[in-house]
Amino acid sequence: QLHSVAVLVPGHFNDHAVERIDRTFRRVKIERADPALVTDEMRRDVRAIASFAGISAAMMDALPNLELIASFGVGYDSVDAVHAAKKNIMVTNTPDVLTEEVADTTIGLLLNTVRELYTAEKWLRDGSWVKKGDYPLSRLTLRGRHVGIFGMGRIGLAIARRLEAFGLPVAYHNRRKVEGLAHQYHPTLKGLAEAVDTLISVVPGGASTEKAVNAEILTALGANGVFVNIGRGSTVDEPALAAALASGTIAAAGLDVFADEPNVPKALLEAPNTSLLPHVGSASHHTRRAMADLCVDNLVSWFSERRPLTPVPETVNVKAAG
Ligand code: NDP
Repeated sequence: QLHSVAVLVPGHFNDHAVERIDRTFRRVKIERADPALVTDEMRRDVRAIASFAGISAAMMDALPNLELIASFGVGYDSVDAVHAAKKNIMVTNTPDVLTEEVADTTIGLLLNTVRELYTAEKWLRDGSWVKKGDYPLSRLTLRGRHVGIFGMGRIGLAIARRLEAFGLPVAYHNRRKVEGLAHQYHPTLKGLAEAVDTLISVVPGGASTEKAVNAEILTALGANGVFVNIGRGSTVDEPALAAALASGTIAAAGLDVFADEPNVPKALLEAPNTSLLPHVGSASHHTRRAMADLCVDNLVSWFSERRPLTPVPETVNVKAAG
């Protein structure tokens, strides 16, 4: 009977997830998650959404029979989960299955930022090694660094484990201290930034972290400072970051996420001391397949057993009707 359940899939979606949804449910396509595109048939039939994209309160309101939003990815700041909870709509995400991949990417980005591996490879490939000789020594190093993690959650912990193996001390800031964790806790982000020279941001997006990394935090990080962002672009005051990079307030930045993706501010693109990636933290076939499976497993569990596998905290108390 799952074949009769209509699942709305906005825009382009993961191929493996689409294949599984088609095998199990009735997939309904919509160009994007825009309430203006919702048809009468969708209003009547749609009971779930599976999506990469954000789902607004207005989109939820446009679908009176919506029970579940299966969001693809662990960060769900673009889904209005508070509104969903009020309307008794369950929201699920895909935690854990991407943690190690994102931590690997973070270390790659950090190393690339301090040791300029991308620029050095270009030096080899464009013939400079033959024409001009050795690539200049890197200005920065990972050696002797003290790392601060802003957001010691699932991914933060996986990054910290890797940094320990690199022989680097790690401290962190969350709103709450993590019980039983030996790394030094700082109750404020500014306190953390003052104590370290390398700051890795891996907090969720949303109002509580909006532009948290601003001019004051970057000044606290200091002239030898390296800032890495693998969390969300909204967490950073990008003009302040570009200014700090240009003035030498900090030394370098490695960014996988931006405030207005896929648009990257010109000042960050042109800065000689940035390493920039197009939001590829979890982007391998291996990990995206695991995320797709968890996304669809949530749909299957909800409609066959009336319970989600990985509900987001805002909707843990939402109950399936009937
Ligand atoms: P978790 O929920 O496990 O960890 C988030 C951590 O951030 C928690 O320790 C939380 O602690 C802390 N935090 C949240 N809000 C604040 C705040 N306002 N101030 C200080 N600390 C805060 O999430 P994950 O580790 O699984 O994922 C983290 C984020 O990484 C995702 O939300 C997503 O945005 C991003 N991400 C990016 C990817 C990429 O491709 N670049 C891929 C995957 C994830 P506390 O509640 O105590 O404050």
